[in-house]
Amino acid sequence: MAGEPVVILGGGLIGLAVAHQLARRGRTVTVLSRRRSEAAGFVAAGMLAPHAEGLVGDQLTLGQRSLDRIPSWVAQIEADSGLSCGLRTSGIIVPFEEAAARDRYPTATCGQALNRQQLERELPGLGEAWTAGLLFEQDGQIDNRRQLMRALESACADRGVRFLEGVDVLALEQSGGGLQGARVRDAEGHDYTLACTEAVLCAGAWSARLLPELQIAPVKGQMLSLQAPRGALKRVIFGPGTYLVPREDGLVVVGATSEPEAGFSEGLTPQGQRTLQAGIASLLPQATHWPPMERWWGFRPCTPDEGPVLGASSIEGLWLACGHHRNGVLMAGLTAELLAGVITGQPLDNDTKTLLQAFRWDRFENSAKASTL
Ligand SMILES: Cc1cc2nc3c(=O)[nH]c(=O)nc-3n(C[C@H](O)[C@H](O)[C@H](O)COP(=O)(O)OP(=O)(O)OC[C@H]3O[C@@H](n4cnc5c(N)ncnc54)[C@H](O)[C@@H]3O)c2cc1C
Repeated sequence: MAGEPVVILGGGLIGLAVAHQLARRGRTVTVLSRRRSEAAGFVAAGMLAPHAEGLVGDQLTLGQRSLDRIPSWVAQIEADSGLSCGLRTSGIIVPFEEAAARDRYPTATCGQALNRQQLERELPGLGEAWTAGLLFEQDGQIDNRRQLMRALESACADRGVRFLEGVDVLALEQSGGGLQGARVRDAEGHDYTLACTEAVLCAGAWSARLLPELQIAPVKGQMLSLQAPRGALKRVIFGPGTYLVPREDGLVVVGATSEPEAGFSEGLTPQGQRTLQAGIASLLPQATHWPPMERWWGFRPCTPDEGPVLGASSIEGLWLACGHHRNGVLMAGLTAELLAGVITGQPLDNDTKTLLQAFRWDRFENSAKASTL
């Protein structure tokens, strides 16, 4: 029903993107957000990197379709907000110690093979260990932390989305298999039930706390940034375990540790920061002299196959858009389009149906069953 609000559970990157697309299709939308600053949307490096990440199968298809949609998605956000999202088609280079490893990379055929000489031309000062590379011109980046998140919030507000900030969703309420409401605690500590029959679960790494049948766990990532001379690094370097992402103004975002064992433990650790520092020294020794600006951390929402869960849930009226792990920035636009499409009853083409089928929440149960047959 057009008049009844769709409630977005979680106001991070995916929640904002879905809210925006629903509002653009004329739906009334309310976003419930516990803590804006904990969203991985503010943490990510913002790489748009289905090829550099070496995605395969359905995730590569989803990632490539998402990448194609980014310019038009960003144009919508920029038109609604009047703010730039900081999209940059910088290309991404994956360096290797041996040409054989380069040629075995899952997405090798989508990139341009580079030898050491070509690598040096693209990335002056690259560490000596790296003798081969793949250039993915089509991959890029967006300044999620400083620009995209703010622009999305503003675009949502412009489209009439209502925000309830500081609201912790404690539990979902259902009756007869259908969603009835969300039990919430507001910023002043009052508990009440917000009635709703249609909601989208976008609670990132915390999603399984509200729906325990989802297999989503946090994978902590620590980051830092350096201030480089403007133009000192022109392309993203995507090394094993560490990457350097140069923004337009010379800020270089460096990521990221991958710490599934850390659970939801907050804060930086000396070990995590040392790991990043070692990665910088190996990839681009001169960057060890660039002054550090900021250090931060966050939690990726990870499923058993590292792909998102999208579409219907086991509760009628509750939709899922979570578990995007390392590629939520890349996949936010298409995720929002898919979810807004199904929620508003838009006819789905066969490609879209296939994607939604591939990213069903219960696919892990199915594959576990299949492997025991
Ligand atoms: C270190 C790091 C680097 C990354 N780099 C990249 C990258 O380069 N490219 C890329 O594509 N992706 C990257 N990602 C992944 C990307 O950031 C995530 O996949 C994406 O942000 C997930 O979006 P989300 O909305 O699902 O979760 P989030 O952005 O984390 O938002 C979830 C929101 O839900 C709210 N919430 C949770 N529970 C409740 C509740 N009970 N009640 C109310 N609100 C609740 C939280 O407060 C939070 O604001 C990176 C992630 C990390 C951590």
